[in-house]
Amino acid sequence: MNDTRYDVVVIGAGPGGYVCAIRAAQLGLKTACVESRETLGGTCLNVGCIPSKALLQASEHFDEAKHHFADFGIKTGDLEVDLSKMMDKKDKVVSTLTKGVEGLFKKNKVTWLKGEGRITGKHQVTVRGSDGSTQSVQTENIVIATGSVPVSLPGIKVDEKRIVSSTGALSLDKVPEKLIIVGSGYIGLELGSVWRRLGAEVTVLEFLDHICPTMDRTLGKQYQRLLERQGFKFELSARVTGATAGKKNVKVTVKDKDGNDSERDADVVLVAVGRRAFTDGLGVDDAGVTSDEKGRIDVDAHFRSNIPNIYAIGDVIQGPMLAHKAEDEGVAVAEIIAGQAGHVNYGAIPSVVYTEPEAAWVGKTEEEVKASGVAYKVGTFNFRANGRALTLGSVDGLVKIIADKATDRVLGVHILGHDASSLIGEAVLAMEYGASAEDIARTCHAHPTLSEAVKEAAMDVDKRAIHS
Ligand code: FAD
Ligand code: NAD
Repeated sequence: MNDTRYDVVVIGAGPGGYVCAIRAAQLGLKTACVESRETLGGTCLNVGCIPSKALLQASEHFDEAKHHFADFGIKTGDLEVDLSKMMDKKDKVVSTLTKGVEGLFKKNKVTWLKGEGRITGKHQVTVRGSDGSTQSVQTENIVIATGSVPVSLPGIKVDEKRIVSSTGALSLDKVPEKLIIVGSGYIGLELGSVWRRLGAEVTVLEFLDHICPTMDRTLGKQYQRLLERQGFKFELSARVTGATAGKKNVKVTVKDKDGNDSERDADVVLVAVGRRAFTDGLGVDDAGVTSDEKGRIDVDAHFRSNIPNIYAIGDVIQGPMLAHKAEDEGVAVAEIIAGQAGHVNYGAIPSVVYTEPEAAWVGKTEEEVKASGVAYKVGTFNFRANGRALTLGSVDGLVKIIADKATDRVLGVHILGHDASSLIGEAVLAMEYGASAEDIARTCHAHPTLSEAVKEAAMDVDKRAIHS
């Protein structure tokens, strides 16, 4: 038994958990964070956001040099990919950031309890180290931030070599000739982009009749066409029912919408059909903490489980499985525990798919607004008519703003285009402040920037765009 009594013990050091621990310590609470991985930062820093963006950037440099430099009058010789160097660079970025979190823990006096945490009492967490030793600590409050893990499909065994999850797809040792991706969500499109740029023939099999199910359909259709132009092949309304690794290749079985079965083969299959909340070994049932049918911890609006001093945040509770959502919940719950009024506005959480062009959105899609029965107006602006987009050679895509017809309040902003991930920031802020489309339209935007397309789309809500 460790004599130290903590105010807060956070279990899991992903973006939800480590941010919560730092904020709790800033607020003067004696805080420990339990993490079983050798490095801090969770899925996001180790096998998620960061390594995927490092490979997206590296492969994008290659694609640019190979296909686009010539347009700018730059001649290149033979280009070659050094995959192991590319992976080293990715690993270096990851280790810089995970060590950075360790430094932040030291700076803020957060104790890292290394090992697997289990709730062994309302006020007790027991930590089992990798050497089998255990220690139990006492705490006023427990925050569960154990995140999520990839799911597979019945009958498909992921071996992380030829049938891979996102984790295996971030570390392949050679570029597959044929890559089949099951699922056209975030992971399918991002990691599909990486391996397509590096030379793989990529086919995405999607159960639904459209790609990237959570995005606005108008943009989704254009997005699919742009990705197809790059070489992506999509088979829609195709439900993958099995995958078996043989000696030479992997056989994938598919059922189409009429119920007909067929087979495809590939060198590598990436299963990207979603993730599930992870609470294995945490002892939630023994502790009496309840979960929903998907295994997500039940919490109220203040992240409190049915046991008042046990809270949960991030991928392990409901809501989008996004790092910034987990981080904001981490800050909010620390503030709530410290007696402040922590809060997360779920109506203004941005989503981004980091392909080229990027897709980014916040608020409601047009389909959702239509279904809500609210009268609305739409403004759009194509990047093709934006000066900066032309100079960049990135003219594909558009900005679409949906506003309430009666009040002009912004209900949703959808961007398909270069650097949409940065452009969405002003839309999130606008929605956070309850802005009208006119507020955006009357705000001065620097020239020449891509952000002028956001302003023009806002002007187009009242059909007064200047450049279209
Ligand atoms: P996690 O990051 O999953 O962290 C949970 C931590 O808890 C883990 O380190 C785990 O080891 C630890 N843990 C679990 N159980 C225990 C236990 N009993 N004891 C001790 N430790 C335990 N999101 C974005 O917003 N942007 C992106 O670009 C993005 N890209 C992604 C790319 C990929 C390939 C993947 C897989 C995910 C991506 N995500 C992205 C999603 C993002 O990674 C998650 O939403 C985010 O990491 C969730 O944070 P979390 O803190 O809830 O959990
Ligand atoms: P996802 O939920 O985004 O997409 C899964 C896709 O698989 C869906 O389109 C679904 O219809 C399809 N599918 C399901 N069963 C199928 C079947 N049998 N056959 C064919 N298709 C099938 O899931 P993901 O791409 O695995 O990503 C998991 C989560 O990780 C995401 O929801 C997201 O929250 C997070 N993530 C975020 C980012 C980002 O923010 N840029 C990047 C990667 C991952």
